[in-house]
Amino acid sequence: ATPTSIMAGSGRAAEQGVLFKTAESLETTKHIDTIVLDKTGTITNGQPVVTDFVAAAGMDAERVKQLAASAERESEHPVAQAIADFGDALLPVSHFKAVPGHGIQATVDGQAVLVGNRRLLEGITVDEQAAEQLESDGKTAMFIAIDGNYAGLVAVADTIKGSAKAAVEEMKRMGLRVVMLTGDQQRTADAIARQVGIDEVVAGVLPAEKAGHVRALQEQGRKVAMAGDGLNDAPALATADIGMAMGTGTAIAMEAADITLMQGDLMRVADAVRMSRLTVRNIK
Ligand code: ADP
Ligand code: MG
Repeated sequence: ATPTSIMAGSGRAAEQGVLFKTAESLETTKHIDTIVLDKTGTITNGQPVVTDFVAAAGMDAERVKQLAASAERESEHPVAQAIADFGDALLPVSHFKAVPGHGIQATVDGQAVLVGNRRLLEGITVDEQAAEQLESDGKTAMFIAIDGNYAGLVAVADTIKGSAKAAVEEMKRMGLRVVMLTGDQQRTADAIARQVGIDEVVAGVLPAEKAGHVRALQEQGRKVAMAGDGLNDAPALATADIGMAMGTGTAIAMEAADITLMQGDLMRVADAVRMSRLTVRNIK
């Protein structure tokens, strides 16, 4: 690969919204055979909104809503904003703690509040039937507990990016293996995967485990590109042979990645691989 042709190649790529960090990353991308995609903010727009709220029998629905919304006001997670916005988030919060990959815990107006997934509420019986129904629709159900008792559930839905389905089709057409990797629940992840044509889903992955799943694919001999947007994705982006950060995502993801995709368009993932194949072939 001559420096001049690599420079020309990365210039053309940049015009199309694919920013290669180094000449080496443009050459390495040619060998990619597996694409790992984060779900929230990568396949979806990452701006979930609350779609459902079900208070447990005998609970004061308005109070449950306010407690959950107030607690979530303190969290940075994309689902937290949605839950904070849907209730009156006005109650005083102390002892707030985020539990990565699980949810949050806090004392709100003197009561102990948990909001999160099944793992967070371990030992507390939740409304499993209602949750499964929502998850089958691709929604993320989160459970609320107050003073150790199940108090209700709140579901959020995120919209899928306009180009996601066509982008996955294009990746497959190019012979790439496409895998979804997410911290969200299996049923929800499967529903989203089905809508965009992804057949391979790894769900319920803790933030600290994402990089390990990339490494496992590499140990199978795969050349892996990982596309993600979040703080949670940074170690996996760095571990992958090529990390691709959504330009709409966090600065930390962009720092960890080899490529930044402008506007977070998923079609750019396929474009990056195609442009690398063309550039590097032309100069041999
Ligand atoms: P992802 O962003 O891929 O969904 P995370 O590891 O950040 O993965 O979160 C995994 C799951 O933990 C979420 O789907 C949600 O159910 C739960 N969770 C995380 N943060 C919160 C929060 N602030 N409030 C409620 N639930 C949360
Ligand atoms: Mg994400």
